[in-house]
Amino acid sequence: MRLSQFHLHTSKETPADAEVVSHQLMLRAGMIRKLAAGLYTWSPLGLRVLRKVEAVVREEMNRAGAIEMLMPSIQPRELWEETGRWQKFGGQLLKIKDRKDGEFCYGPTHEEVVTDFARSELRSYKQLPLNVYQIQTKFRDEIRPRFGVMRAREFLMKDAYSFHVGADSLAETYQAMYDAYARIFSRLGLHFRAVNADTGAIGGSASHEFHVLADSGEDAIAFSDTGDYAANVEMAEAVSPGPRPAPTEAMHEVQTPTQKTCEDVAALLDIPLVRTVKSVALVGEPGFVLALVRGDHSVNEIKLAKLPGLGDYRLATEAEIVDALGCEPGFIGPVKPARAITVIADRSVAAMADFVVGANRKGFHLGGVNWGRDLPEPDQVADIRNVVQGDASPDGIGRLGIARGIEVGHVFQLGQKYAEAMKATVLDENGKAQVMHMGCYGIGVSRIVAAAIEQNNDANGILWPEPMAPWQVAVCIINPKNDPAVVEAAVALYDQLQSAGLEVVLDDRGLRPGVMFGDIELIGIPHRVVVSGRGLEAGTFEYRARRSPDSENLDMATLRARLG
Ligand code: ATP
Ligand code: MG
Ligand code: MG
Ligand code: MG
Repeated sequence: MRLSQFHLHTSKETPADAEVVSHQLMLRAGMIRKLAAGLYTWSPLGLRVLRKVEAVVREEMNRAGAIEMLMPSIQPRELWEETGRWQKFGGQLLKIKDRKDGEFCYGPTHEEVVTDFARSELRSYKQLPLNVYQIQTKFRDEIRPRFGVMRAREFLMKDAYSFHVGADSLAETYQAMYDAYARIFSRLGLHFRAVNADTGAIGGSASHEFHVLADSGEDAIAFSDTGDYAANVEMAEAVSPGPRPAPTEAMHEVQTPTQKTCEDVAALLDIPLVRTVKSVALVGEPGFVLALVRGDHSVNEIKLAKLPGLGDYRLATEAEIVDALGCEPGFIGPVKPARAITVIADRSVAAMADFVVGANRKGFHLGGVNWGRDLPEPDQVADIRNVVQGDASPDGIGRLGIARGIEVGHVFQLGQKYAEAMKATVLDENGKAQVMHMGCYGIGVSRIVAAAIEQNNDANGILWPEPMAPWQVAVCIINPKNDPAVVEAAVALYDQLQSAGLEVVLDDRGLRPGVMFGDIELIGIPHRVVVSGRGLEAGTFEYRARRSPDSENLDMATLRARLG
């Protein structure tokens, strides 16, 4: 690409309303332009980077056996009624009407659509497992869109969904996706951590988030300094004692009389509250374990089976639990329809005491809530974080360190929740209908661009990891208007490097060197080669790596070797 024919629009001024460095640099480099709150246009430069990320994601998804498809972004209300999420999803769901008053939403995610696809397409266990994905625009009406494309309202997501007969097959694909995610973030050159996002502390592996580590991250994650333990703080606090903050207003709001807390239920049954995790509350006494499951999550059997001391158990129906509690259906949580499962253990649950860490405080369960989905998002999410640096790691190995993270990926074993609600079944080997098991796997493609800049920048601008750079090499021409020999040499070099498979941008704009170099540094091109009259006389090119403080004069052969 010749920069004279491209559209580059850089700026020296740091925009006043951009709080974090990635937002500032994306604006200054002219990668994005704001249209309205949480809505951004990707400029030609920005799009080159976005496409790079997309390509790596696509390649690794394909490698892991996922198959690309594309679903509509506009989705009919009826589908969302089937899962109860038309109401439950909350304010993030942008609802729209067509000219016939038909109701739709702009998809914030695609479980409903893909499950509808699966139930119409899949008939037999022989067609499973199936793992499909798309890379597509989502819309979520975030309460506080901020940090540019990091928390936008319209953003690009890769979302994959897998379908299975049985939990084992799901667990296998989940692992394959987990591994693919690790490859994706490694290839993109990011420092990241996979953390337990759901029931990790009780041994489940049903959900992991991938966080890019950066001080500006909105999430806090806790990890063992010497062991493998890593969790988001919502999880970690469930196993770490410490002072609880006063409930926020948002917490009070949901404590209406019909919305019972885990504590209320424990009091009602006159049994101790053992521990709560995310939307799951476990209350128990020897020989009896009750798991209340609220909101979007179902405790699937894999997780339960991993509870130490549980032994054999039986899952009760929702009706049974409602009956046992003597309450109305929907009593158990703020989110309807509430689901509940009773687990009757035939052994003592004393083994679970290992996990009992001072969880019997009012409002405790709120710490594990997935804000915005289970409850309205509070303005101060930080209020619920109280894990202390240096706490012993819950697995007993090492001490907890705390870091801030940006959630760039999320893998989730959904179990049968959606398939059950939408009656998505296939026939098994015996010709019997089986409700499919599902997993879902998201990556914030556009968020990754911002997250990468948070980790890779200096006073002069962006330092792209090579696979994300808009071009790998910039060939800068000094004084092109008056020096045809220099232009000729630069164009020859440009052609040669391109033929060698490198992505090269030729800066032929005729700007003063300082301004030209400023732009090339700001937009983060990893390698810069300067072609000047003086260099030509000496038979050299001036080379500088973006991350190096010094430039070197290299002859062609050395330069070529350096650029790989
Ligand atoms: P967050 O906790 O940041 O709100 P989420 O947990 O709601 O994210 P998921 O439903 O797990 O998001 O969606 C999958 C991925 O989509 C996330 O891991 C994140 O990288 C990305 N994502 C979610 N919301 C946004 C947003 N508003 N802007 C940009 N990317 C987003
Ligand atoms: Mg969210
Ligand atoms: Mg999240
Ligand atoms: Mg998530």
